[in-house]
Parts: sequence; structure tokens; C-alpha cells
Amino acid sequence: MNTMVEPFRQAKQAVVVGAGFGGLALAIRLQASGMQVTLLEKRDKPGGRAYVYEDQGFVFDAGPTVITDPSCIEELFTVAGKRMSDYVEMLPVSPFYRLCWEDGSHFDYVNDQEALDRQIHARNPADVEGYKRFLAYSKAVFEEGYLKLGAVPFLSFRDMIAAGPQLARLQAWRSVYSLVAKFIQDEHLRQAFSFHSLLVGGNPFATSSIYTLIHALERKWGVWFPRGGTGALVRGMVKLFEDIGGRIEVNAPVARIETSGNRVTGVRVEDGRLFAADAVASNADVVHTYAQLLGQHPRGAAEGASLSKKRFSNSLFVLYFGLDHHHRQLQHHTVCFGPRYRELIKDIFQGDTLADDFSLYLHAPCVTDPSLAPPGCGSHYVLAPVPHLGNAPIDWDVEGPRYRDRIFDYLEQRYMPGLRSQLVTSRIFTPFDFRDQLNAHVGSAFSLEPILTQSAWFRPHNRDSELSNLYLVGAGTHPGAGVPGVIGSAKATAGLMLEGVTA
Ligand SMILES: Cc1cc2nc3c(=O)[nH]c(=O)nc-3n(C[C@H](O)[C@H](O)[C@H](O)COP(=O)(O)OP(=O)(O)OC[C@H]3O[C@@H](n4cnc5c(N)ncnc54)[C@H](O)[C@@H]3O)c2cc1C
Repeated sequence: MNTMVEPFRQAKQAVVVGAGFGGLALAIRLQASGMQVTLLEKRDKPGGRAYVYEDQGFVFDAGPTVITDPSCIEELFTVAGKRMSDYVEMLPVSPFYRLCWEDGSHFDYVNDQEALDRQIHARNPADVEGYKRFLAYSKAVFEEGYLKLGAVPFLSFRDMIAAGPQLARLQAWRSVYSLVAKFIQDEHLRQAFSFHSLLVGGNPFATSSIYTLIHALERKWGVWFPRGGTGALVRGMVKLFEDIGGRIEVNAPVARIETSGNRVTGVRVEDGRLFAADAVASNADVVHTYAQLLGQHPRGAAEGASLSKKRFSNSLFVLYFGLDHHHRQLQHHTVCFGPRYRELIKDIFQGDTLADDFSLYLHAPCVTDPSLAPPGCGSHYVLAPVPHLGNAPIDWDVEGPRYRDRIFDYLEQRYMPGLRSQLVTSRIFTPFDFRDQLNAHVGSAFSLEPILTQSAWFRPHNRDSELSNLYLVGAGTHPGAGVPGVIGSAKATAGLMLEGVTA
């Protein structure tokens, strides 16, 4: 035992449960501010939804691939006294996305006003003016909703009331689609400018029009991809955390958050080890956090039961595949709209079965970074939004391989001729995996659905209202899902934690 008298006050100990983008960003901020942070991750690699699979020279980013607002990531390196460029290189992606429809038409969503206007004009001349007004609206929401409120914790209803006039002025009660439809007439263009909320688990027909801010955010800062894939960004953040003295353990599933009265005292991992802490933050799913990790405490049991009744975002079916061929006709990001839009989205968010049709997002990262596959080959993933297990109790062990085959057939017919004969490797990730590997309630891919009545103050708070040194970070707390969202949540939570330990 060390009997030396400490010359300085000992650093406060924090434990962060889960190494998704939110957990990592929080751990970096706390460590950089002088706390001693231990980050505990259940799986064998950090990243959470941004896990990485590797097989036969193919590298597959499991989740986020559209990296927006690089400045929120850079800030993490800056607060730690480092330069992001020493850890990871960010590559610009253009077009941001190619949007394709079954009638054979496509729209290249680029950051070039003239090219946008030309494409909009070709579809419907009146929409050029409408788009201009939509962009102005989206910029106003971005200022209010992202720049001003994105990293502010909504702990009291007063904060919500204070934001009320702006939300009312911006017509936040309207849905994304209805707002877009107010400005734009062409149905394809309405889809092109409303699908974005799906990237963070929001139904464009139900999610607050506040989420149109994603459009302005992309136009302002662009779409980026880390060299080496999103996994390289995760590795860069882990290295940064360790370089400044943080400690991360993988294969360390937390079984329980320990409490004494209305304070948490640390966490116990499944192998029985106890990590004592002055404060604990959970990046794990919010229902899992309260109902499982805190199930022994009345607060955990009550909050877990209450949260499990809320509306959760859809799940996803993700198919990763490597080909011995590079499809040069593809762009990095392609959205393949199916035959139905509004009706399909209804089936995904409210249906109790799997629809016959689908809309897909196709990722072809070798377009930007060929090093993610062996020479001349291509790594890909394709995802289809599907209902979560609470709405549609599909047996994915049976349905998964069938769904994979249907998607392969569709891609081969319409987008990637010869796909089947070029296939080297493939794997799937289903709602069962979201539930079992990521502990996601009902297998939701994005946690609580971002509707107005589950946003800001109405979302689980960044600091628990009863256990005064328990905090949340990540998609289930304010502001919500998506890489910039969870990194913003880390900023809000870090502010509260640092206030808490110095109080
Ligand atoms: C397929 C897919 C594609 C996406 N694409 C994009 C995109 O292009 N752009 C974008 O901005 N966003 C995208 N998103 C959304 C974005 O990835 C997520 O919102 C974000 O990464 C979630 O981060 P998080 O911090 O909430 O933690 P998560 O990534 O959910 O990580 C939580 C971590 O907690 C761990 N954990 C759980 N329980 C325990 C426990 N008991 N003990 C220890 N650890 C535990 C989990 O293993 C996991 O590592 C995508 C999501 C998916 C699924």
C-alpha cells in the first residue's frame, strides 16, 4: 500500500460505461479536465455502433459513415491540448449522397449551389426558389437548435420554456416532411430534402421540423470520411484518451451500478470487480442502464419501467459484403429509394411485419479510400430500416438470411451487376444483434424516437434527477442520436459532471 502523503489533492474518479462515440467523447473531456477516468466497454472493441469488422483484407465500418460537423470532433482534441490531424485525417466526400429512384433518375446532393439549382430546375423550375426558402429556414433552425441548444443540458422545465418562443417561431410542431413540402413541390425533391432525419432514427412524417437543421449543417461543414474508415476515428479518439492518461478496458461488461442512498458509488463488472467512483456516466442504452444496471434501486426500477413505455426509433438490417470487383459507377453514399416513401416509412415505424419492398442506404467507402479492401476489390455495406422488435417480433434468425438474399438480388439487378459472382465475404447485423450485442431496448438502432415530446427536457436528462452523481451520455439523452448529437451530449454531460465534482 502506498503510504506516501499525496502532495496534491487526488483527482476525482469517474467511470464511463460504454465506449460509443458519446462515451469516448465524454471520457476525453473529463480526463482533459483533470478527472481520472476509466472507460469500461462490454464488447472486444470500442466504438459501439461504430464497431469495425475485418475479414480477408476487407474492412467494414459497422455503423456511422456520414461524418458531419468535424469541428465538434476537433474540439475534443483541442480541449485535450492536441491536434486532430496528428491522430486522424478527414477526407471530404462529394457528392454528399447520390439519391436514386426506381424510375432510373438520380439526384447528386452536392455542396455547390449552381449544381443543385440545375438539378432542381430540371425536376421542377418553381422548386429552385422554394429550395432557397427551405435552406434559409434550415439555417435558422440550425442556429437555434444546434449552435445554441445542441450542447446545453435541459435539466429543468424552465429551460424548455425559455426555448419555447424560438421553437414556436420555427414551427417545431410541424414534421420534417410537412415543412419541406411547404417549400418544395416535386415529390422526389421532397424525399431528397426530408429523408435526413432517418439517419438519426427520426420518421420524417413525425419528427419535429427542427431536424431539418441537418441539411444546413451538411451545407455548412460538408460530409467527411476518415482515412481508414470511421474505425480510424474511433482509434484516434481512444489513443487521445490514453495519451492524456485515461484508462480503457474492453471485454468489461458492467453488471451493476452500485449505490448508497441517493448516490452512486461505482460500478461492478460481470467478473465481480468493483470500480469505485465519485461519479458514473452511462453511455449504454437508457433502458438497459436503469432497468438492468440500476434495477436493484427503486429509481432504476421505476425509470426503467417508465422509459420502456416510450416510443423507440426503428431498427436496421445491415448487410456487410466484400467483392473482388470495384464498382466504379457507385458514389461513396447512395440512397436507393424504393417504390413507396410515406407508406414504407409508416410500415417501418408502426408496422408489425416486414414490408415486401425496401429503401436502402448503400455504402461504398473504397470510392474515397481504396485501402479498405484488397487491391481492385470493394468493401460495402447496405442497410434497410426495419421495425424494432417491440412492434414487429420477427424471428431474424430465420428472416435475416432471406432478407439478405432479397437485398442482394435487388442490388444486383439495379445497382451492382454481377454482384453475386463477385462476392468474397458477407455478414449480417439484425435487430437481434442490436438487442443482444449492444443491449439496445427492442433492438432500436437509435434509442428513443426523436419526436418533440421526447426531445430536450422531455428526453432522459444528462444528469439523473434523483441520483445526483449519475449521468447519461449518448443517443438516449439530450440532444440525441447521430455522431454530432452524441458528441454534443458529451459536452453537455461533461459540463454537469465537472460542476458536480467541484461543488
Ligand atoms: C448502421 C448505422 C449507421 C449509422 N450511420 C450514421 C451516420 O452515417 N452518421 C451519423 O452521424 N450517425 C449514424 N448513425 C447513428 C450513430 O452511429 C449513433 O447515434 C451513435 O454512434 C451512438 O453513439 P452512442 O454514444 O450513443 O453509443 P453506442 O454506439 O450506442 O455505444 C454504446 C456502447 O455501450 C456499450 N455497452 C452497452 N451495455 C454495456 C454494459 N452493460 N457495460 C459496458 N458497456 C456497455 C455497447 O457495447 C456500446 O459499445 C448510424 C447508426 C447505425 C446503427
